[in-house]
Amino acid sequence: MNARTFSFEFFPPKTQEGAEKLRNTRRQLAQFKPEFFSVTFGAGGTTQEGTLNAVLEIRQEGFAAAPHLSCIGSTRANIAEILQRYRDHGIRHIVALRGDIPSGMVDVGDFRYANELVSFIRETHGDWFQIEVAAYPEFHPQAQNAEADLRNFVNKVNAGADAAITQYFFNADAYFRFVDEVQARGVNIPIVPGIMPIQNFTQLARFSDMCGAEIPRWLRLRLQSFGDDSASIRAFGLDFVTELCDRLLQNDAPGLHFYTLNAAGAVSTVWQRLGL
Ligand SMILES: Cc1cc2nc3c(=O)[nH]c(=O)nc-3n(C[C@H](O)[C@H](O)[C@H](O)COP(=O)(O)OP(=O)(O)OC[C@H]3O[C@@H](n4cnc5c(N)ncnc54)[C@H](O)[C@@H]3O)c2cc1C
Repeated sequence: MNARTFSFEFFPPKTQEGAEKLRNTRRQLAQFKPEFFSVTFGAGGTTQEGTLNAVLEIRQEGFAAAPHLSCIGSTRANIAEILQRYRDHGIRHIVALRGDIPSGMVDVGDFRYANELVSFIRETHGDWFQIEVAAYPEFHPQAQNAEADLRNFVNKVNAGADAAITQYFFNADAYFRFVDEVQARGVNIPIVPGIMPIQNFTQLARFSDMCGAEIPRWLRLRLQSFGDDSASIRAFGLDFVTELCDRLLQNDAPGLHFYTLNAAGAVSTVWQRLGL
């Protein structure tokens, strides 16, 4: 089996306190020796400096870092400038995304879809960057239909992606089916499952509605039945997410990408229970 890739995702902190908390989180997660830490990027460039600063700090600490880059609302000149800055800092790994159109945005800019960003990166920088793209085992919420979404994913990979990270999901079969379907269409890059720890039901339900990740009925009802008992939600969530990861790895998933929400606790527990 090929070596597996483990990575942790952060968002750029907005305050000094947030930055300090993230440093602590990183210190705790660094002991697991992930392949890289990634840092999200607000659509429309709202976190441009924050993303770069967080990535530079991670690299100063001696770890590999991959900034996310979303293209919606940007011009070719904006994106070219950001890529050049990353390159000047020696960054060689990017998570390339379309991003979500912020409400009220009228001008979508020069890029409509992530495959156009991937092509642009390859045209302007050749193989300098390792490019990750997003995948949606339960389909993207704005997809015209499932078939079109699969086709669009294959186009994005063919534009020059090296690997993909999935939206989070709680149904492992959706992931296995997605991988089978795109492999049948010729995709052979690693598709790494994105893992969301379950910590707070209300927040999770809101996120999931927005991004199109399904919380299966049985899981939603179990989580709801804990009411305000957050300790029980977390304990149940840890059991569930550990089992999910275990099943994915047992069935040859090429690694795991954890959505940490800048906290180390749940992710560390899952990691230790998996015995990685
Ligand atoms: C791992 C991961 C990390 C993320 N990080 C960030 C982040 O840092 N910042 C951020 O803003 N967002 C982030 N997102 C969210 C992401 O930006 C949104 O889900 C966004 O809506 C889609 O981005 P994409 O790159 O998947 O888009 P695309 O691949 O462009 O797909 C978007 C939609 O367009 C459709 N489509 C694609 N090509 C075509 C075409 N040629 N014609 C018609 N339809 C087409 C697709 O089927 C899909 O429905 C992340 C998502 C994931 C899974």
